Formats: sequence, structure tokens, C-alpha cells
Amino acid sequence: ESGVELVDAGAITTCTHLPYEPFQFQEGDEVVGFDVDVVDEVADDLGVEQKIVNTPFETIQSGEALNAGQCDLAAAGMTITDVREQNLDFSDPYFDATQALLVPADSGIDSAEGLDGLRLAVQSGTTGADYAAENIPGAELVTYEDLGLLLTAVQTGQVDAGINDNGVLLDFVAKNPELAVTTEFDTGEQYGIGVRTGNTALLDQVNATLERIQDDGTYDEIYAKWFGE
Ligand code: GLN
Repeated sequence: ESGVELVDAGAITTCTHLPYEPFQFQEGDEVVGFDVDVVDEVADDLGVEQKIVNTPFETIQSGEALNAGQCDLAAAGMTITDVREQNLDFSDPYFDATQALLVPADSGIDSAEGLDGLRLAVQSGTTGADYAAENIPGAELVTYEDLGLLLTAVQTGQVDAGINDNGVLLDFVAKNPELAVTTEFDTGEQYGIGVRTGNTALLDQVNATLERIQDDGTYDEIYAKWFGE
């Protein structure tokens, strides 16, 4: 008996924010991705299915969605930060990330200084938006609600560049070679799965599953599936 109580009996309900390929994105009628596969392992260990709810990232990282009982956990490529720790509880880290710069491949822009006087796309509520506001004062920041809109803005020249996590941007440029990631800012971030503050029964289960999949090779299989060897 795990003592885990679920908002919807028989399923683990995940709040996430789409699209954040390859962590979570729509493929046909299905939501797939790295985070989806990781939480499927938690669901397996609990003997339930996973149900996914698309939620604004602002309400995920603020703890609002978890507190309102919209979901049991949040898996959204979400960086563990001190501010967020005050509003929700994080699992052990399960993925490393850093901020990166996305530009047209022929632009020649490869540094924060190179963005002076240019338009830089940021995603609302994210660590990338915070980083840009604090460390790239010369750029004009343009805020987008999700990653898909940010990528389109760079692709169509509405902005000169975009900042976001290296994992999603490297995945995108591999499929869209007219764009490039020309620098990373070494922010040293780690993703965690969020639960409502004080939900230790579920947090312990998530951490136990993360440990199991690291030990039994499942984590490496999921990693290879979405990021290659
Ligand atoms: N890792 C970043 C953050 O936590 C971006 C997450 C996201 O956009 N899904 O702010």
C-alpha cells in the first residue's frame, strides 16, 4: 500500500504545457515525449494509467494547477528553482539543461552582446525569460506564450533570435537546419517533477520510480529514444 491519493482514482493526472518537443508534444491524437515516458513509469509502478492535461506554464510553475487539484503532478521540462520550491515540491533531478540561443543559421549572432538592439523571443514564465531579463539588457524582449510560437517567430523573422532550453532547441535545429544554436549560457539547470507541497506519499513514489529506471536501464532507453545515443 503506497498511501498515494490521486485526484482521479485509477489514473495519475499530469499537468504539462504543450508543445515542448521532445519532452511533451502532440503526435496525432496522442501526447508523447520524454517526460510522458518517464511519468508512464510512475503510473506503471502505481498500477494506473497516465492522463495528461494541457495547462498554461505560468500556472504549473506557480503551483496553482497542483493546488487547485487539476493534477497529481507536473512534468513540463520544468527547472527546479528556489522560487518555485516555495510553491510546490520537486522530485530528485531527472534531466540537465542550460539556456541556449536560437538564430537563423546565416545571422552571425553568437553571443549576448551580439543581441544589442535586436529583438529576442522569450517564453512566458520560464527560466529563459528570467535569464534574458537579467543578463541580456541590450536586447528588446518579445514574450511568447509557448515554445511553438517562439520557434515560429524566429523562423519567420518576427524576431532576430530566441532563448530557451538547449534540449528543445537542439532538437528543433536538427529538424530545421536553416536555424542554428550558436551559444549556450551555462545556467546549470535541472528538471524536476512537481507535486503539491506536502504530498510526500506521491513524491516518494516518483523518486522511487526515478531511482528504479536509472538502475534498471529504462531511463537510458527513454533517453536514447528521444535524444539518440
Ligand atoms: N525549463 C524551463 C523552465 O522551467 C522551460 C520549461 C518549459 O517551457 N516547459 O522555466
